[in-house]
Parts: sequence; structure tokens; C-alpha cells
Amino acid sequence: MKKITCTFRSGILSLVLAAAMLLAALTACSGTTAREANGSVSLPPEAESSAAADASPDPADGSGDPAEGSGDQSVPPAVEADSDEPYPNLYARQEEKTDDNTQKIIYLTFDDGPSENTEKILDTLDRYGIKATFFVTGQYGTKEERETRYQKILDSGNVIGLHTYSHNYDKIYASTDAFLKDLNKIYTEVYEATGFRASLIRFPGGSVSQHNQHICKELIQEIEGRGFTYHDWAVSCGDAEGKQLSASTIAEETVKACADRTKSVVLFHDTPSQGETVKALPSLIESLMSKGYEFRALDPSVKPFHFVIE
Ligand SMILES: [Zn+2]
Repeated sequence: MKKITCTFRSGILSLVLAAAMLLAALTACSGTTAREANGSVSLPPEAESSAAADASPDPADGSGDPAEGSGDQSVPPAVEADSDEPYPNLYARQEEKTDDNTQKIIYLTFDDGPSENTEKILDTLDRYGIKATFFVTGQYGTKEERETRYQKILDSGNVIGLHTYSHNYDKIYASTDAFLKDLNKIYTEVYEATGFRASLIRFPGGSVSQHNQHICKELIQEIEGRGFTYHDWAVSCGDAEGKQLSASTIAEETVKACADRTKSVVLFHDTPSQGETVKALPSLIESLMSKGYEFRALDPSVKPFHFVIE
């Protein structure tokens, strides 16, 4: 049995892949646990399907030059565009991380979009006066539709992170360069549409999974070396784990998992088939608010939640 060998930060435990997969399956719908850098138990669930990604379009590289003409304060560290750096714009500005554990905070995150459900999610967030984070891909809609949705996410005060363009596991995890090439596509699409330089990343399937264990350590080093911050998740309601859950189940399981924790980064999906997730949001937001939780978007200063496996 092959052992996951990604080690970083304070990870000290050793877990075999079979155990990880088994526990992920057992916890698929009950608030998947993950181990934080500071302690609690954790395993990386395989919470996402690549079926849609496999059928996704594969447009030409977005090889524009996001750095040109911006002149804003978010410009990443200057990188000389030379022959040794195929992605000279793919950098972010690192910020010092804070880790305030005294407040009860929920970070709602929506992966895989934008999609035709994005606006419904934004409307719900707006109704409750809360913000969330969207880890976007190029999987759904036309380029024009995605560009409009990126802008709506940002105009409403929510945050965009990157989740690769194709979300095709075989393709993006073929090599570190293949990952960077795909990531550069979505970075560039978002930047050219909005002027926003994303600095947060979520790896499809999580930072450590059976899809990327062969290169995950190198990938993490590369991404962090470029200034990006990556976020895994502490709670998954299981809305993309192969079975269609009802809105009430999604809400109940999410509240149950979050209520055991001071802070949670919660994984949802924003795809055309996630109507039940959209329906689940009001009740889970109201329930967690009644328990004293605040809802916030992630930003580069938030200490990231990482899967840690040795
Ligand atoms: Zn995903």
C-alpha cells in the first residue's frame, strides 16, 4: 500500500492512503474532518468529482499580460519575464497570517464555479449581509458569462480564489508545470475580466489526495514560493460526493459539523447541478448565526487550513 508522503508545516503523523480513503468515505456526509496545523484530527476527503471536468473545454492558453498597465497596490512582486519563467505574472503578494481563535467564524467557500447558480448564491449571501469565497474554474458557461460572474462576485464584496481552469485531475496533476499552465489560464481570465489579482488557491481534490500525491509536495512549494496561499477545508457537507443530498441534509450536516468547532472553512460547490446547496444556504446560515458565528470571506491574512499527512 502506497503511503502518502507529503510532509510540511507541523505535520507529524503518518497515515496510509487506504486509511485516508476509508475514513473519507465514512465521513463523506458528516462534516469531513481535517487536521489543522495546530492539532485536531484530519484526513483529506476526496470530495469532488472530476466527471464534469473531464468534459470541460480546453481553450487556448490565457497568455495575456496581467501585469501591464495596472499600476495598483495589488501588483505582485516584480518578476523579470525571461526565458526561464514561463508564467511571469503568476505571482501573488504574501501577507502575514493571523490566527485569532477567540472568535467563532465560518468561512463559506464555493468551488468549481462560476455557474448559473452563482448569482443565486450571491443573492443569498447579500440577504444575510455576509461574505464568502469562490474558488473559480473555467468549467461552466461561456467566457463572457464567466467574466460577468467574476465581476458580480467582486462587486458584491466577495472574494475570488483560483481552483484551476480545467479541473481535470489527470491533466493538472500530470506535472507541476502542467498545473501552473492550467492555473495561469484561470489567473489570467479573472485578471483580464476584472483587474483582480487572485492570491488564494484551492487545489482540486485538496492539497493532498490520491490524485496529486506524486507531486503534491513540489506543487505546494511552487505555489507558496509564488506568494499564493492555499486553503483546504475543515468541513464538507458532501454536496459533490456522488449522491444528491437534499437541502435539509446539507444544512443539518453542515451545522452539526461546524457547531463542534470555533472556526471552520466549509466546502460547498457552485455548479449547475448544485441546486440543493443553494436551497440549503438560508437555513444553515440562520442556524449558525443563532449559535453566534460570524461569516467572513477568506483573505491572504487568514491563517490557512491545511491537510497534513506524512
Ligand atoms: Zn473542485
